[in-house]
Amino acid sequence: MPGFEFFGAEERKEVNDVLQTGILMRYGFDGARNGIWKSKELEGAICETFGCKYAQLVNSGTAALTAAMTSLGIGYGDEVILPAFTFVASFEAVLSVGAIPVLVDVDDTLTLSPAAVRNAITPQTKCIMPVHMCGSMADMDELVAICKEFDLLLLEDACQSIGASYKGKKLGTIGDAGTFSFDFVKTITCAEGGVVMTNREDVFLSSDGYSDHGHDHKGTDRGADLHPFIGYNFRISELHAAVGLAQINKLDTFLSIQRKNNKTLRNILSAIPEISFRRVPDEAGDSCTFLSWFLPTPEITKAVVDEMRAQGIMPGNFYWFDNNWHYISRWDHLKNSVTLNKLHPDLKAAVIHHANKDFSASDAVMSRCVSTLISLLWTDEQIQEKGTQMVTVIKKVLVEHAVTY
Ligand SMILES: *Cc1c(COP(=O)(O)O)cnc(C)c1O
Repeated sequence: MPGFEFFGAEERKEVNDVLQTGILMRYGFDGARNGIWKSKELEGAICETFGCKYAQLVNSGTAALTAAMTSLGIGYGDEVILPAFTFVASFEAVLSVGAIPVLVDVDDTLTLSPAAVRNAITPQTKCIMPVHMCGSMADMDELVAICKEFDLLLLEDACQSIGASYKGKKLGTIGDAGTFSFDFVKTITCAEGGVVMTNREDVFLSSDGYSDHGHDHKGTDRGADLHPFIGYNFRISELHAAVGLAQINKLDTFLSIQRKNNKTLRNILSAIPEISFRRVPDEAGDSCTFLSWFLPTPEITKAVVDEMRAQGIMPGNFYWFDNNWHYISRWDHLKNSVTLNKLHPDLKAAVIHHANKDFSASDAVMSRCVSTLISLLWTDEQIQEKGTQMVTVIKKVLVEHAVTY
C-alpha cells in the first residue's frame, strides 16, 4: 500500500519547483509563483486519473470527509450509516459536522453489509458511507440501489482504496462524493493530504469554499473574495501537493506491483484448504494493497496470530479484531462518547446507543480475519520466504486444533 516506499528524485523535483519560488500557499501570489500551481495541477491529474468531474484537495482524508459531508448538507439530527470496521476518522468526521454516526455490521467483504444498512434506515437517515477498506470494495450496486430507494446520499470513504474500481468505475467516484487520504501510509502520499471527488458542481463549489474559510475564489484578489457561507481552513500546501503530483504519476506502477505481489502470496497461502479469502465484489478492481484471509474459527485465528507474534513475523500482518484504531471492539472512547468539549445531550446519547449495539455478526467475520500488507519493495524470494513462514505457523496451529473444528 504505501507510496512512501517509492519516494525519490521525482518527488524532490516537484518540491524543488515550489522551493524555487518560495510560494508555499496554493492560492494567490499569482505573479510571484511564476506559473507553479502544484495543487491545481494535482487536482487536474486526479480528475483525469480517476474519472471525476471535480476534485478539491484538502490537508487530510479526515478533512475531506468533513468537507464532503458539510457540502452535502449533512448536519444536526442527520444519521450517517457507516461500518463498524473502519478507521476512527470516519466517525470523527460525522461527529465534526454534528451528525449521528450509526455503526452497522460488515460482512465477508470487510465492508458494509447491505442487509445491515437496510435494517438501520430510519426517517433521520441522510447518508450511507461505505468504507472501502484495505484496498477493496463494498457491494456498490446494492448500496446504490438502497440510496435510490430511500433517497439517501452516498459518500464513499475510499481513503484506503486509491486506484481500485468497481465495474469499471474508480472507487470514490460512484457516489455523490468520495474521498481519498494521502497521509503517509496510503497508496499515494503527500505526507498529509486528502481530496474530495465529485461529479456534482454544487458539492465541489461548497468544498472549495468550505476548505478555505468560505472564500468564493471568484477573482484574483483574495482580499476582495466574498464569503457566501462560513467555512474552515483545511487547505493543503503547495509542498504537500508537489509530493502527491510525483506520486500520482507512479500509481500505475504501484498498482501493478501490488497486484503481482498479492497474487504470489495468495497462491502460497492457497495451499492450505482451511484458508479462505475476503469476498471481493469485483475481483478485477481490487487494488491489492492487502491480502485479507480467514481461518475457520476465532480460536485458531487467535492462536495463529499469537504464534506469528512469538516468531516475530507479525509485523505487516493486521489482526483488526484486537486493533485499537480500526474496529468497534476497542473503541471505548466512542462507546462512552468521551469528548473534550460538551456534545448536545441528544447527540451524546445517540452516539453511545449506536456504538453499543450488537456487532456479533461483524465479530464473527473480524475475529477470523488477518490482513497482510503488500509491500512494493518485496522481491519474489522475500514473498516466498514470508509465505512459507506463514504457512508453517498456520499448519502447526491447525494440527494442534484438529479436533476443535
Ligand atoms: C486514512 C484514513 C482516513 C483519514 O485519513 P487522514 O488523511 O489520515 O486524515 C479516513 N478513512 C479511512 C478508511 C482511512 O484509512
